[in-house]
Amino acid sequence: MLRLPRFQFVEPATVAEAIRLRTEALDSSMYVAGGTDVYPKMKRRQFQPATVISLARAVDDSFSNGTSLRIGAGATLTTVSEDARVRSGYRALAEAASLVSTPQLRNMGTIGGNVCLDTRCNWYDQSLFWRTAEGFCMKTHADVVCRVAPSSPRCLAVASADTVPALIALDATVQVAGPNGERTVSLADCYREDGIRYLTLAPGEIVTEIRLPASDGWRSTYLKQRDRNSFDFPIAGVAAAVRWDGGVVAAARVAITALGSRPVAVEASALVGTKLEDDAIAAVADVAHKAARPMDNTSGTISQRKRAARVFTERALRELRAA
Ligand SMILES: Cc1cc2nc3c(=O)[nH]c(=O)nc-3n(C[C@H](O)[C@H](O)[C@H](O)COP(=O)(O)OP(=O)(O)OC[C@H]3O[C@@H](n4cnc5c(N)ncnc54)[C@H](O)[C@@H]3O)c2cc1C
Ligand code: SF4
Repeated sequence: MLRLPRFQFVEPATVAEAIRLRTEALDSSMYVAGGTDVYPKMKRRQFQPATVISLARAVDDSFSNGTSLRIGAGATLTTVSEDARVRSGYRALAEAASLVSTPQLRNMGTIGGNVCLDTRCNWYDQSLFWRTAEGFCMKTHADVVCRVAPSSPRCLAVASADTVPALIALDATVQVAGPNGERTVSLADCYREDGIRYLTLAPGEIVTEIRLPASDGWRSTYLKQRDRNSFDFPIAGVAAAVRWDGGVVAAARVAITALGSRPVAVEASALVGTKLEDDAIAAVADVAHKAARPMDNTSGTISQRKRAARVFTERALRELRAA
């Protein structure tokens, strides 16, 4: 059995205090929310923080709605997936949250932790014993090559959070607090094509809440491919959202995940003005297929996952046709 190493655990009561503690020890500390990704990785020594700063007391977990819906980043995935407002107005998010891992992990795992989830790779997501025997890689050891693509100048680990494409398709913004104050940022802008520095957040920044715009006229869905439906991470994921107006599509967004180091917003303007006829859907599915750049570093094959981008985009959009 893998065991946690020794570490200091602190649980500040406020976001400001959490930021202060983290800023004082940027190289040797990390935030934890539900811990469903942090603690297994500490057991495998992928993360080796001397101090773990819990956000459980500091970050809000409540929901509130006016014209938009605000979700505290500390809300668990179970709460998000079961919330009546999310289920009726933002179905892609409810579906994505309900498809993350297992009920136990959804009871602990938060939406903030999902949005900030580390990238994944078969070479990296291994025990210290395995990695010591096989050799490390660039993600944990800067002077070593990428084992998946030795000539690659960057790590190609895979963006794997299920709620992120749904949130991008729903045009979510996040409220972020950090050493330099607070800001609001489009969720889509929080990611970069880099398996190591996959977030654009500054060191010490905390996602405090997620905001979703008014859902009037929108329909959305999320489809996920994985090895075992009981608990696996996505190996391809597609979220689609469409706003209907007068029987035609007035706006549309599609986003894919697990097909590269960042989630990608797919150009979907070809759907506007259509009734989601087959040819319009095929055009956007083609764009999704081209945008998918899977590598051989997670389950499934490259061709299977690339094809899933097309097929799932088609299925998702057909599902959103006006009833
Ligand atoms: C067996 C197994 C299966 C899994 N399957 C899936 C899956 O199918 N899909 C999926 O998406 N995930 C999956 N996960 C990963 C994980 O359970 C979820 O992503 C979960 O939502 C993470 O949330 P958490 O609160 O536990 O995050 P934590 O583990 O606490 O943190 C994750 C990361 O986010 C950072 N962080 C947390 N909260 C904040 C915040 N508010 N602001 C800034 N940084 C923050 C942490 O520092 C850490 O880097 C799986 C995990 C396991 C162990
Ligand atoms: S993609 Fe390459 S550098 Fe990144 S985790 Fe995998 S083997 Fe390591």
